[in-house]
Amino acid sequence: MSSHILVLGGTAEARELATVLAARDEVRVTSSLAGRVTRPGALDGEVRVGGFGGAEGLASWLREHRVDAVVDATHPFAEAITRNAARAAAATGVPVVVLRRPGWRPGPGDRWHPVPSLHAAAEMLPRLGRRAFLTTGRLGLSAFAHLAETRFVVRSVEPPEPPMPPDTRVVLARGPFTVAGETELLREHRIDVLVTKDSGGAATAAKLSAARELGLPVVVVRRPPLSPELTAVPDVTAVLERLDRVVRPTPPSPADPRACGAADTCP
Ligand code: NAP
Repeated sequence: MSSHILVLGGTAEARELATVLAARDEVRVTSSLAGRVTRPGALDGEVRVGGFGGAEGLASWLREHRVDAVVDATHPFAEAITRNAARAAAATGVPVVVLRRPGWRPGPGDRWHPVPSLHAAAEMLPRLGRRAFLTTGRLGLSAFAHLAETRFVVRSVEPPEPPMPPDTRVVLARGPFTVAGETELLREHRIDVLVTKDSGGAATAAKLSAARELGLPVVVVRRPPLSPELTAVPDVTAVLERLDRVVRPTPPSPADPRACGAADTCP
């Protein structure tokens, strides 16, 4: 009997995990995507797209599809789905493993300004610069929409939609990015302040090195806290270890000699 693992995705780690799990004979893996990106790329295993309808909807899905464990491998700022996963786990008894890549840490020479939210970032921004590079995601642009005196360069995977600041230039691109490329972009647009979420991970960290090299201030939006009932592991290897512990072991089939011991007692 195989185990069914639901991976709540939308990150590179979720994709990597789906590939590893799909290669296992005894595992059925379903990746779930919110459907925000129009061309998310191929994923190994089964894929479902769109919301579940809150924690209750997710709990029903887990029961209906006989899920043995959920891996919440969503982005560290995807708060609602993580909260729903915790609630659905409590309602169904299905274990949840949370995969959270570690956050970034400032090093010597960094001029970081940590803030608790996008709104706090917008409040601080005018004191730090006039030409901002904004990498906080297209859906968070509305928090900056009232800043008419700041020129924004916004980078996102999909084109952003209003409301957004009046002086906005959009750069459509998907990581990973290099330090050389990021430095060139900051110079080309004469950026004097960077705004980012503490997403963590290597794919989008180059902008921080580029900002350090150019001596630019960086407004860093801190991660939302994880629900107290959840604990996170930092990478795919740690998820696999945790899954081996929380998913019930596959019982041997009757045809397997381990099922019957040495005596020929199989039905
Ligand atoms: P969110 O605020 O936590 O979720 C809002 C709603 O979207 C959820 O309540 C859920 O709808 C649905 N949803 C979110 N992730 C889902 C998933 N993997 N599968 C099915 N439904 C999902 O999430 P968000 O911040 O909008 O992010 C959406 C997706 O983009 C996430 O999967 C995340 O991994 C990815 N992402 C987010 C960011 C970011 O900065 N927030 C960055 C990169 C990638 P129902 O309540 O109807 O189930």
